[in-house]
Amino acid sequence: MKLVYTAPTMFMVAHIRNLLDAEGIACHVRNEFLSAGAGELPPTEVWPEVWVVEDTQAERARRLIAEATKDSGAEPGQSWRCQACAEELDGNFAQCWKCGALRTDT
Ligand SMILES: [Zn+2]
Repeated sequence: MKLVYTAPTMFMVAHIRNLLDAEGIACHVRNEFLSAGAGELPPTEVWPEVWVVEDTQAERARRLIAEATKDSGAEPGQSWRCQACAEELDGNFAQCWKCGALRTDT
């Protein structure tokens, strides 16, 4: 068993589990029902976790997860540079405030 993914919300974990299921990768979710008490405990201790049953499939699972979470995976607050006008922009923006070009580096 290898841990391949954890997230603060069951929503994302369920999404990843479905993704792995669809790819034929057997997985288990841990802490699925503990998150209800998240207000009482340090949040990371109750994050649901996705574990891949076969260690040999863990690498493939991680790649699939990386692919699936890419769009929302950009660190908030991490700056980026506009391809069109070279303006440096805050990571929260998906579009250049100066020239209007869409972010292209993610
Ligand atoms: Zn720009």
